[in-house]
Amino acid sequence: MEIRRIAVVGAGTMGRGIIQTAVAHGFEVVVAVLNEHERTAARAALQAAFQHAIARGRVGGQTLADLEGRMSWTTELDHLASADFVIEAASEDEQVKCEIFQRLDQVCGLAVILATNTSSISISRLAGATHRADRVLGMHFFNPVPVMSPVEIVRGAETSPATLDATRQLAERLGKVAFVVADRPGFVVNRVLMPLINEAAYALLEGVADANTIDSLLKLGCNHPMGPLQLADLIGLDVCLSILNVLHRDLNDSKFRPCPLLAQLVEAGRLGRKTGRGFHVY
Ligand code: NAD
Repeated sequence: MEIRRIAVVGAGTMGRGIIQTAVAHGFEVVVAVLNEHERTAARAALQAAFQHAIARGRVGGQTLADLEGRMSWTTELDHLASADFVIEAASEDEQVKCEIFQRLDQVCGLAVILATNTSSISISRLAGATHRADRVLGMHFFNPVPVMSPVEIVRGAETSPATLDATRQLAERLGKVAFVVADRPGFVVNRVLMPLINEAAYALLEGVADANTIDSLLKLGCNHPMGPLQLADLIGLDVCLSILNVLHRDLNDSKFRPCPLLAQLVEAGRLGRKTGRGFHVY
């Protein structure tokens, strides 16, 4: 099936980036959001992002009307029935995602591939919520999506080779570089990255240094483009905490135990850039 119309579920940090990238690459995109408030906020953010991209000549002469004209919005998953391919980018919560996958399975055509942008949740378990486990897989983009080139394509226990191929081709049409990885908690990048972020939080908690010093040392000492606490704020501290909880539980290894400071900041609503405060203030 030729993929022309992509459905995106969720229009938070990642959903918006995926929508922007898909629209800029000529796809029609239908977006499912929870409510009108999220639709208004996401549309405004995308309009600003498109204007910025047009001003910088990054969308090949397309106008704002061209780009916005390829997006449609709904608050009902039932309205995604016309999509050729679905990318779920809702909150990192297994229960939420399972319910979404159950509904998508009922609504979408049998040939449609259901992909999740989860950072850590088992693809095979999500696939088990559907009757099409061979057409379910992970499509893990990186933040900010329009800028970051890799995509981890995560092969669930029953994902078929045809599903992997079609998704790899779609990733390439979106301008991405696809890497196929196995369905183990955190896949590759978060399994390696989250312990770094967690350890930086412990160093802050223990008073080894303040947040700016920790970030500056990792930037200059390890040649990283940004420090681990800055990166955690960009990802979202709630997202980092969810990923660490999954790594801790599913790998059953205490080295992934989330730092109490991270949990405390999330409880206080300090989620990083998206709320204006996390480890740093924005
Ligand atoms: P976010 O909190 O910014 O956005 C999630 C959005 O999903 C929220 O707007 C929420 O209201 C919405 N939502 C929840 N249930 C929904 C439903 N039933 N239907 C429609 N929308 C629903 O989170 P995010 O950072 O965009 O993360 C989304 C997914 O992407 C998560 O699985 C996360 O692990 C993954 N991810 C995040 C990053 C990152 O850097 N933030 C990177 C890669 C992958």
